[in-house]
Amino acid sequence: MFRALYLEQIAEKTTAASVVELDDSVLPAFESNAVTVDVAFSTINYKDGLAITGKSPVVRKFPMVPGIDFAGTVTASDDPNWKTGDKVVLNGWGVGESHWGGLAQKARVNGDWLVRLPESLTFFDAMTIGTAGYTAMLCVLALERQGVKPDAGEILVTGATGGVGSVGVSLLAGLGYRVVASTGKAAEQSYLQSLGATEIIDRNTLSAAGKPLQKERWAGVVDTVGSHTLANACATTRYGGTVTACGLAQGMDFPVTVAPFILRSVKLIGIDSVMAPGSVRNEAWSRLAKDLDREAIAAIAQRVGLAESLDFAPKILSGAVRGRLVVDVNA
Ligand code: NDP
Repeated sequence: MFRALYLEQIAEKTTAASVVELDDSVLPAFESNAVTVDVAFSTINYKDGLAITGKSPVVRKFPMVPGIDFAGTVTASDDPNWKTGDKVVLNGWGVGESHWGGLAQKARVNGDWLVRLPESLTFFDAMTIGTAGYTAMLCVLALERQGVKPDAGEILVTGATGGVGSVGVSLLAGLGYRVVASTGKAAEQSYLQSLGATEIIDRNTLSAAGKPLQKERWAGVVDTVGSHTLANACATTRYGGTVTACGLAQGMDFPVTVAPFILRSVKLIGIDSVMAPGSVRNEAWSRLAKDLDREAIAAIAQRVGLAESLDFAPKILSGAVRGRLVVDVNA
């Protein structure tokens, strides 16, 4: 038997979430490459908040065990690449949406979806980073690929106190970039400074409709909120600069003109963590293990138990959470 957070659809657009005991025999079956994992830690990402509350139809089938990421130890494997005792991390691939996820003591997944846990990271570290941190790393890698070097100028990080934002600020600052953090949480100035932000701006300066082209400022952007904020970020990016877009905390809309792209050669790079190929994931995780400051990992984490996840799901949707919620599935 194992404990799991369990989602059932009790009426159209209405999800019931509870912690239940399940028999191992109900773990999903795979025709090949099935790997069973004893989960140590999972997390609550924005998408998990949507799944648990049922606020948005991210869950493709019910019943569902949510949790888009986890870290743990392989206990059984039909996949030649994995053996009992291997330490693994999983992010995305529809886990917690179409396939049972990490908010449980056990998970069974396709071995192709797993990444080997870098040796220098604990399970707790890996889930403090989680999908949010891995996505932040994908943004940083995209900036690097576009030639945005630390001496290029200021980098804007929006939604800075959130999971992606917090890891993004810390990573970029650690790599020597000058990071400007945009936040709606005035009280979190010292938190953002401790992660390495050199300046903190009020997110209201970016969140309303703005002119198509505005004063140039950013050499690069990590945007986690979308909508007018992303449009204003593009409109204020310097000639030839790069904007990475990974989130929609403000909205899915994107009310922009082509002006920044055709008059300033601004590059807009979309970032998807869910279906990113294994080579990209391995690169991101090895860079996270190398580049992310250990103290930052500790500062970003908030540890919660499995049942507490239910209380934190609406909080992450209202933007009230700072940093990363790491779920101890055995507590
Ligand atoms: P969090 O909820 O931890 O952080 C989001 C942050 O955005 C909040 O903390 C808040 O920061 C800010 N925010 C919230 N509401 C608003 C609003 N209405 N207007 C402007 N800012 C707002 O989420 P994550 O960091 O985990 O994820 C961020 C986004 O990235 C989400 O939309 C998520 O779905 C997406 N995502 C995408 C991935 C991908 O593969 N593309 C992978 C992972 C996440 P502050 O108070 O500091 O302003």
